[in-house]
Order: sequence, then structure tokens, then C-alpha cells
Amino acid sequence: MSKIVFVGMPAHGHVNPTLPVVQELVRRGEQVIYYVAEEFRPQIERIGATFQAYPGGTLASKDIAEAIQSGDLTRVVRVILQATESLLPFLLDELPQKQPDVVAFDSNALWGRMAATKLNLPMVSLMTTFIPNPAQFPRLTLREWIHMLRPILPSIPGVVSARSRVVRRFGQSLYPPKPTLPMRGGTNIVFVPRDLQPDNALIDETFHFVGPTIDPEAPRGDLPFDASGAGPFIYISLGTLHRGSTDFWHQCFEAFAEIKAQFIVSVGKGADLQALGESPPNFIVRDVVPQIDVLRHAAVFITHGGMNSVLEGLYHGVPLILIPQQYEQLMTALNVAAKGAGLVLRGHMAGKRVTAAELRGALETILAEPRFGEAAKRAQTSLRATGGYRRATDEIQAFVARSARPRT
Ligand code: UDP
Repeated sequence: MSKIVFVGMPAHGHVNPTLPVVQELVRRGEQVIYYVAEEFRPQIERIGATFQAYPGGTLASKDIAEAIQSGDLTRVVRVILQATESLLPFLLDELPQKQPDVVAFDSNALWGRMAATKLNLPMVSLMTTFIPNPAQFPRLTLREWIHMLRPILPSIPGVVSARSRVVRRFGQSLYPPKPTLPMRGGTNIVFVPRDLQPDNALIDETFHFVGPTIDPEAPRGDLPFDASGAGPFIYISLGTLHRGSTDFWHQCFEAFAEIKAQFIVSVGKGADLQALGESPPNFIVRDVVPQIDVLRHAAVFITHGGMNSVLEGLYHGVPLILIPQQYEQLMTALNVAAKGAGLVLRGHMAGKRVTAAELRGALETILAEPRFGEAAKRAQTSLRATGGYRRATDEIQAFVARSARPRT
């Protein structure tokens, strides 16, 4: 039995894809100790790993959500750097007592990689998305550029000084090589299929594109609501970090109130359900739903294009309407559209409203034209052949065996 320490990023989109891998490692007799924020304790303990909480006040999902919702993605980097100042000393205290064989860190959990480097421990990086290639960035309109850059430019000096502080305090030698994020390890498990990774010189034989880690045999629960309304079943969610504005949800109500379909909406934990007012009778609105269970019934998924949501939708053969909120989601969305499995509404990328008419038009097109469903089914077939959680577990175990050394 080996001992594997996971160092997580406290966000559902980062923790969720690791869970079936941890469960499989435990099932195969490995010991897994998982460090992440307290809010994830139930999921981790349920699958038989030892849970270890980050100290209160260091980093939680709400810190990441707030940074993302500001529209300024450099704030996420600042949050990571600031968290490193407390979480790195914490791990440097903790890990020598645990004596792990390997540290498997989320590719954004800087403190995890720096601690493993300092303690000279073999490193697995867990990547929840592709490594972008600037040469292949999609073209933005002027308005999209302005919308993206306006919040970022003023905060760049803050990020530079936060980075300098970390380097000064802990040493340049512990800091990951450029490009820093997503960080690479001795082996790299990417929860994305190879065909969603743009060409990139960094990709070598240490990268394993295992795709989504959904366990198709996992017992599924009944839906926690009655979704037996007439017509197809349409699911809408903008993920756990962005959520939608009240105005966006009102556009959805207006767009779909007259459509003969059952709409399930996940507005995100902490969203103000009261402020939404009454929803049309063909809507069920919740702050959070069991997304994978819902997708098993869905005819169409209206999503922000988060990597997990996209892969979970396609894994179930569901065509997508993609409403990206940030650049990486736009890249994913355009990729899905190029495969024919979805339509992209990119108004939010320019800070514009996605209107009720656009939403209705997109849904009517997808429901009327079988080619979208057929493309989603083709994507489903290929996603189910990527290896998923079993291959991720094989690769981690193989890496542990290659890195084995006597315990001190
Ligand atoms: N999710 C869920 N219930 C919800 C909304 C989301 O279980 O009501 C899960 C979803 O299945 C996915 C994750 O949260 O695994 C969201 O990750 P994604 O990368 O799509 O988006 P993010 O929230 O990171 O922007």
C-alpha cells in the first residue's frame, strides 16, 4: 500500500473530477489523505479517504467564486498567491509527519507543488482543463477585448507584487517553472480528452488525457424534484463560480415560459432565489442540483461551458447551448460547436445581455435539428473510450511504483 496525499483547490469543478479517482485508489488498497477546505469533508470521507482541512480563513470556494465573479481573472491568481503564504507553511509542517510516497496536487494549488518541491516528493499534477496555446487563441471582437481587459489591467501590479512576496519569502527555486499555471508535475493527469487540447510544445509523454472521470456504474439517486412535466427536459446552469445574474435568469423565464418543455435551473449556491421572483410553471429552480443525475434525463443542456459541465453533458450525449463567461470557456464552447454538438451565444463575453429571443432561437434550433443530438452522441462514444478514472488511477499507481524509494 502506498500513501498518496492530494492537495486540492477548493472549487467543485476542481474537486469533483478527482473523486472517482480517489475512490478507485482506495478501492485498490492505497491510502489517500486529501487536503482541501472543510466544506468538502463529506464528499471526501464518503469515498474512504482521510480528510484534512485547510486551516479556517485560508481558502474556501467562496474566495474563488468572489474573485471570478469580479470579472478580473488576475484576482484568482492573487487569491492563489495569498493562500500560498499560509497554506505552504501549513503543508511544510504537515507533510513530513504524513510521509507520503507522492503528492498529487491540483494544477492551480501552488502551495501543494511548492511543498512537494521543498520536501523533494514525487509530484502528480491534476489538470481540470487543457493547457492553452496563445498561438491558437480564438479571435475576439474589440468589445470583447475591452470587456476582458478593463478589469484586469489595474490589478496586474498587485499580482506582480503578490508573486514577488511569495518568491522572496520561500525562494525562487520552489516556484514552478514558466508558464506557471496550470502547473506541471512528474506525471500529469488531464481530465480532458486529447482532442480538446490545442497543440502545445509542453505536451509530452508525461501527460495522460484521461477525459471525464464519471463512473457510469455509480449508483444514481432519484431526482430531488418531480420533473414529470410535459415535453423534453432542459437543464440550465452557469456553474458553481459564475452563477447567472438575475437579469439572465429573467431572460430565460421570458424565453422559455411558452415552450412545451420542463426546465430545471441550477442558479448556484448562495444565489438570491427570492430576488428571482416567481418562475413560469414549466420551471423548477434550485440553488444546486445533482447535475450528473439531471443530465441523464436532459434533452439539451444550457451551460456556461465550464470544462466539467461540458464533458458531463457530452458524456451523456446531450447537445449544448454554450454561454461562455470567460475566455477559456469560449475556447471550449467554440470547440464543441466545431464538432457540431452545440451552439454558442457569446454576448456575455462582451458584457452584453444574452436576450430571450437569442435563447429561444438557439433552443428551437437544437430541438428541431437532429444533427446536434447526433454529434453529441458521437462525442459521447469517444468520451467513453478515453479511460476516465480507471486510467487516471492506473497512471498514478504506475508513477508511484516508478518513484518508489525507501521511507525515512
Ligand atoms: N454542479 C453540480 N450541481 C449544480 C451545479 C454544478 O453538481 O447544481 C457540478 C457539476 O456537475 C460540475 C461542477 O459542479 O462537476 C461545475 O464545474 P464546471 O467546471 O462545469 O464549472 P465551474 O463551476 O468550475 O465554473
